[in-house]
Amino acid sequence: MTKENPFETAKQQIDIAAKKLNLDKDIVEWIKTPRRELIVNFPVKMDDGSIKIFTGYRVQHSIARGPCKGGIRYHPDVTLDEVRALATWMTMKCAVLNLPFGGAKGGVICNPKEMSKEELERLTRRYTSEISMIIGPERDIPAPDVYTNSQVMAWIMDTYSMNKGYSTLGVVTGKPLGLGGSKGRNEATARGCVFTIREAAKKMGIDLKKATAAIQGYGNAGSIAAKLLHEMGVKVIAVSDSKGGILNENGIDPVDVLKHKEKTGSVINHPRCKNITNEELLELECDILVPAALENVITSKNAHNIKAKIIAEAANGPTTPEADKILNKKGVFIIPDILANAGGVTVSYFEWVQDLQAHFWTEDEVNAKLENCMVESFNDVYEIHEKENVDMRMAAYMLALTRVADAIKTRGVFP
Ligand code: NAD
Repeated sequence: MTKENPFETAKQQIDIAAKKLNLDKDIVEWIKTPRRELIVNFPVKMDDGSIKIFTGYRVQHSIARGPCKGGIRYHPDVTLDEVRALATWMTMKCAVLNLPFGGAKGGVICNPKEMSKEELERLTRRYTSEISMIIGPERDIPAPDVYTNSQVMAWIMDTYSMNKGYSTLGVVTGKPLGLGGSKGRNEATARGCVFTIREAAKKMGIDLKKATAAIQGYGNAGSIAAKLLHEMGVKVIAVSDSKGGILNENGIDPVDVLKHKEKTGSVINHPRCKNITNEELLELECDILVPAALENVITSKNAHNIKAKIIAEAANGPTTPEADKILNKKGVFIIPDILANAGGVTVSYFEWVQDLQAHFWTEDEVNAKLENCMVESFNDVYEIHEKENVDMRMAAYMLALTRVADAIKTRGVFP
C-alpha cells in the first residue's frame, strides 16, 4: 500500500475531471470541501472495569442531491483524512448511480479484533449517541463498512430509536432482514459488479461463456462475484484471500472453494488447485480481473504485467493513478470502483425506501431494480467515455461532477 493521503487523491481526481468539464473554480472548491465534520471523543467501559477514551468521526461531504449516505468503519488506522476521502467518493458514487444522496462516512479508531462483543456494543451505542444530532433518516443514513456488520447496524438503529422514543428503521441500512433490512443487500455489491462486467463484455465482443476470470479477495464482494460469474458460464480460474491464492486452469467451483475456506480458514491448499501468491493472481492470463480486497494493489510495479482485458474494481481504490495510466495505454478496460461496486449503496438506497414506506419487496424485485440501475449507469458512463474519448474512470467522475454541480447551481447559495 502506498502512503498517499487518500483525501488529496480524491481532490486531485475531482480537479482533473472538473478541468475537462470546464467547471467554475468556485463550484469545484465548494464540491471538494466536506460540508460538515464531527469529531467525538467518548468513554467506553471495558470488560475489566477500566474506562477507555475512543475517537470517532462522521464526515458529511455533500447534501447537494439529498441526505448523506455512507458506511461506518471500525479500524485502528482510521484518520480524519481517510474518512473525508471515503465520504467524497460516496458523493461521487451516489451521483454516478443517480441516487438522491450525498456522501458521508464515519469511523472509530479501535481494533474490533481485540474487543469483546459487549465492548463493541457499548462503543457502538455511545458513538451513535455522540453523532445522533447529525444523523437520521432525512439527514444522514450510515451503513456497514470495514469491520462493522448487520449486528452493529441493529445496535445503531436501536440506540437512535431509544433516544427518539420510537423505532426508526430508516436511520441506517445493512440491517438484519428481521429489522427492516432488504432482501438482496448481502449479494448486492457482487451482483452489481457482475452486471457491469456483462455490459463491458458486450461492448468488447467478449463471449462470457468462453471467458476466464481471476478474483482477488474471497469475502462478501469476491466470493459472491465468483459464484455469480461461474453461474453465468465464466470459467473462474483463480481466487485468493489474505493467506494467498489458488489456481486451476480448468476452472474452480466457487461454492466448493467457499466450503473449503469455511472449513480451513482460507482458500489455499484446496485439493484440486495449485497454490499461488496474490501477486501472481493479478498477473495471470485471463479475460476478467476482479480486485475485491484492498486498495492500491495494482501499481506502477505490476500494471505492465497485467494481462486481463477487463478489470472490474469491486474493491475501493485498488488501482493507483500511475497504474491507471499504464493500463489505459495498454487498452485494458477498467470499470472504476465508483461504478463497479455501487450495487451495495444502490440496494442500501432500496432498503431506506422500503423502511420509509414500511413495505418490503421480493428478492426478484430488488435484483431487477438493481439491474436497471447498474445497466443504465454503465451506459451513461460509457457514452461519455466514447463521446469525450476519455477512460471510464474519468467518464464516471465527469458524470458525477456534472450532476453534483448542477444541483449546487440550481439550489443556489443560501441566504
Ligand atoms: P470482506 O472483509 O468480506 O472480504 C475481504 C477479503 O479480502 C477477505 O477474503 C480477505 O481475506 C481478503 N484480503 C484481505 N487482505 C488481503 C490481501 N492482503 N490480499 C488478498 N486478499 C486479502 O470485505 P468486502 O465487503 O468483500 O470488501 C472488499 C472490498 O470491496 C473493499 O475494498 C470494500 O471497500 C469494497 N466494497 C465492499 C462493499 C460491500 O458491500 N461489501 C461495497 C462497496 C465496496
